[in-house]
Amino acid sequence: MKIAFYGTKSYDKIWFEPMGKEYGFDIHFIEAACNRETVFMAKGYDAICIFVNDYVDAEMIDALYEMKVKAILLRSAGFNNVDVKAAEDKIVILRVPSYSPEAVAEFAMALLLTVNRLTHKAYNRTREFNMSLNGLMGTDLYEKTVGVIGTGKIGQAMIRILNGFQTHVLCYDPYPVEGLEAEYVSLDELFKSSDIISLHCPLTKDTRHLINKDTIAKMKKGVYLVNTSRGDLIHTEDLIDAMLEGKFGGVGLDVYEEEEGVFYEDKSGDIITDDNLARLMTFPNVLITSHMGFFTKEAMQAIAKVTLENAYALENGLPLVNQVGAEMVQV
Ligand code: NAD
Repeated sequence: MKIAFYGTKSYDKIWFEPMGKEYGFDIHFIEAACNRETVFMAKGYDAICIFVNDYVDAEMIDALYEMKVKAILLRSAGFNNVDVKAAEDKIVILRVPSYSPEAVAEFAMALLLTVNRLTHKAYNRTREFNMSLNGLMGTDLYEKTVGVIGTGKIGQAMIRILNGFQTHVLCYDPYPVEGLEAEYVSLDELFKSSDIISLHCPLTKDTRHLINKDTIAKMKKGVYLVNTSRGDLIHTEDLIDAMLEGKFGGVGLDVYEEEEGVFYEDKSGDIITDDNLARLMTFPNVLITSHMGFFTKEAMQAIAKVTLENAYALENGLPLVNQVGAEMVQV
């Protein structure tokens, strides 16, 4: 199988290169992201392999179909960046439904601990021998109420971590799971009662802008918000307005509405034209990271393994256990 591997970073090759050789795949690593301008590079390949900030819309599906590309191999669980309906009966879409839920949950906790205890600021201060504690006061997590929205694989891992901190965990999910050490409540109740809210639901038509001026109004003053799921869960301008009013104790964002083309790139020498992103960066109690919750050795290895197993199954007519079908699309 010939695979056009879009959006290649050096760390992608660590596992994909040797494992791809073992399978006998011909993987062509392309640095460019997959988009309307670069889709033509897939000509002559059997499959394309893409990540979260690549996209494939209906027009590109038709182009790929004409080029006889048979599959889109997603190196991610989420598939909101592919027009799955347009691909029906034309191109097979395969994903990695789970690689390391713990990696993302642990990162969500790291964001919370950092933005609460301000260790990122303390690190910079002590490097300059500024040992003052002014402005570095945090809050205990012990016995605080934490709302987890979405109790799938990552939400459940987060609940386990939060229980280790002896917090009281509330959760919301339209499909509750039995046996969790957490109390299911309505979304309204969760917004009203939580000292900390962590988002772990997928991006769907129901969850887009779940955090907006109306839901923010229901939250406690001083609430902490962590988003490691998808940027579009938050209405960024409403978040900024609330930040200006002093509503939030702290906000940790690993994802952002307009992250495509910015996250995963070195933009340190560029003029930032996204005013919302620039504004968010100015708040001392907002911490932004570049969609890296998944980024552990274990997760990267698992992503390569499952992506290539998907390709192998397709090539050999085996059951496609990780196929994304139009019936799974909610956006
Ligand atoms: P999952 O499918 O196991 O769980 C998602 C849960 O959300 C399910 O239980 C589902 O019922 C629930 N849900 C659906 N609609 C909901 C709604 N309207 N309100 C509340 N809950 C709802 O997925 P997962 O593996 O736990 O991943 C969760 C999300 O994390 C993914 O969709 C992805 O966006 C994000 N993610 C981020 C990173 C990262 O690096 N930051 C990595 C992997 C996944």
